[in-house]
Amino acid sequence: MKKTFVTKEQLDQIIKEYPTPFHIYDEMGIRENARKLNQAFSWNKGFKEYFAVKATPNPHILKILKEEGCGMDCSSLTELMMSERCGFEGDEIMFSSNDTPANEFKYARKINATINLDDISHIDFLEEVAGIPEIISCRYNPGGTFSLGTTIMDNPGDAKYGLTRPQMTEAFLKLKALGVKEFGIHSFLASNTVTNEYYPELAKILFKLAVELKEETGVHIGFINLSGGVGIPYTPDKEPNDILEIGEGVRKAYEEILVPAGMGDVALYTELGRYMLGPYGHLVSTVLHEKNTHKNYIGLDASAVNLMRPAMYGAYHHITVMGKENEPCDYMYDVTGSLCENNDKFAIDRKLPKISIGDVVVIHDTGAHGFAMGYNYNGKLKSAELLLEEDGAVRQIRRAETPEDYFATLEF
Ligand SMILES: *Cc1c(COP(=O)(O)O)cnc(C)c1O
Repeated sequence: MKKTFVTKEQLDQIIKEYPTPFHIYDEMGIRENARKLNQAFSWNKGFKEYFAVKATPNPHILKILKEEGCGMDCSSLTELMMSERCGFEGDEIMFSSNDTPANEFKYARKINATINLDDISHIDFLEEVAGIPEIISCRYNPGGTFSLGTTIMDNPGDAKYGLTRPQMTEAFLKLKALGVKEFGIHSFLASNTVTNEYYPELAKILFKLAVELKEETGVHIGFINLSGGVGIPYTPDKEPNDILEIGEGVRKAYEEILVPAGMGDVALYTELGRYMLGPYGHLVSTVLHEKNTHKNYIGLDASAVNLMRPAMYGAYHHITVMGKENEPCDYMYDVTGSLCENNDKFAIDRKLPKISIGDVVVIHDTGAHGFAMGYNYNGKLKSAELLLEEDGAVRQIRRAETPEDYFATLEF
């Protein structure tokens, strides 16, 4: 059973001050999880997690992660600007972008972020618009499918990201000739993996590649970036990943492949988003309407504007009806938002306890790629974000949008 990190009593109090819908984040959960990740990789001297800012772009969240020793992984101008404003400097910022505009490369160079190139053609582009730095990384895409045992996890061959294997060699030689002193390798081969095997398998691929590239090109490889993709159990039947076991699996691959090649000084980086924040966010919403037609609908005051994943990918997000945690789930509902878009459903044919108008529901695992993916369709406004602090106090870390915000870019 999935548990909420706030009680009904706490929520009733919070709602008196901050009307629903809102996202709320659990500071204690975020910190404990970040500490466990750092512990899992503490065997690696240069280990650093670069939080994927896109998952939860809120300065208060970024600052918590900074205190836990994380850097930031950005892929746009505003993400770079936010990271800089939060006090991240130089090599504390990774710039893993794609289809990158010139001004974003310029900005990344200005603040000395580590650039992770997504394409071989970006070498000339970067040289022309901002110059080639001394430290640079390239993103690898092996193509084909990525499997664990007999299970296909994802299709890198269909992904727009990264350089092919021959391009990696060519790029390293070219960059070396342009004066690069230290190289990194990055790859992201499968998303939301709920298995302890993903990072160790990916590590083997990248460690072997690193040994080959070093032999072929003679460059110094300073870091290997395992990127994101460690997932979370959205459905209640799944077991969470064991990050200590994952760290141990990566350590074995490191000792088998890198250490014998004389590369025992390579730093490991991660760029986790979902794993860092996902479980530590709830979307809290109130039931506005019940509608019984061809199906039974529960209408919330939240919509896909606040959480797009179900509408966009059919993603499962667990729902708890507050105060009814122990009641039997003997009703079946579609739980909807108010957009004029039939995809705007948080759940379809979901078994839940009998719901009444005014009930408060928690939609789980919205801490990453939740608020952030929101949009303004139908002129609906984005919600507030709240932080449940370690001492139990609640702080608003982003106010809700107002109609004035929505109209701010228009003249009429
Ligand atoms: C989205 C993204 C991540 C984070 O992915 P998660 O699934 O949230 O772990 C990391 N790196 C890059 C380059 C990304 O685009």
